[in-house]
Amino acid sequence: MRLIDTHCHLNDAEAFPDPAAAVEEAAGVGIEKLIVVGVDTESSQRAVELADQFDAVYAVVGWHPNYASDYKTSELVEIERLLAHPKTVALGEIGLDFYRDHATMEEQHKCVLEQLDLAESTGAPIVFHCRDAYPQLLDILEKRKVLPYLFHCFAGCADDAKRCLALESYFGVDGPVTYKRSDELREILGWLPKEKLLIETDAPWMSPIPFRGKRNKPAWLTYINSGLADAISVNPAECAEITTANAERFFDFSR
Ligand SMILES: [Zn+2]
Repeated sequence: MRLIDTHCHLNDAEAFPDPAAAVEEAAGVGIEKLIVVGVDTESSQRAVELADQFDAVYAVVGWHPNYASDYKTSELVEIERLLAHPKTVALGEIGLDFYRDHATMEEQHKCVLEQLDLAESTGAPIVFHCRDAYPQLLDILEKRKVLPYLFHCFAGCADDAKRCLALESYFGVDGPVTYKRSDELREILGWLPKEKLLIETDAPWMSPIPFRGKRNKPAWLTYINSGLADAISVNPAECAEITTANAERFFDFSR
């Protein structure tokens, strides 16, 4: 099996003091690429450093809504510089998060809107983080020029999924696909077009069953692949083939 972990945080030094070991362990189960995602300027710089260090690692750079209270417009100078790195494959993770209140709605809106403008001017694909804010984020996106969008760890309802799909978005599938209570998610995944689905660990968060509650790692992507395979009624080898091809279509690894 050839897999790509399209979203992990190996740049989190506390969770991954030895990123080389995590990359190697992932390679051992067939994960040939890992996309390391930034949440602010410093973690985005670290993502690019890891991309420089490891052939298998690529970077996504940007400001997460939970960090929007520290965001200033001037941060975009460095984000734009990092975005131009040959192994940076998207802008992210950006979006809205009304589940947590680390930043006000105003701060979150400024942070996401300015980054959407940056994506539009650079043509970068976007990785969204969206929690308890799908209608609000989609209201914004539906009025703008459509770019290549990926909703990381999709957790919306069927109506949200339809609106995302109308924007030709991709959908990231994580540990929750393996959780007992995720029937609604599995049902949505069952009718979404297979060519729009990607798999990701979001490590160190969101461990799949049977590791729930433990610190997640990229090597456990295989469990998410199997969970998605069940949800969309294909076998794990087919699921790996489909999702890897989708990742290669969404992210331009060869630029
Ligand atoms: Zn993340």
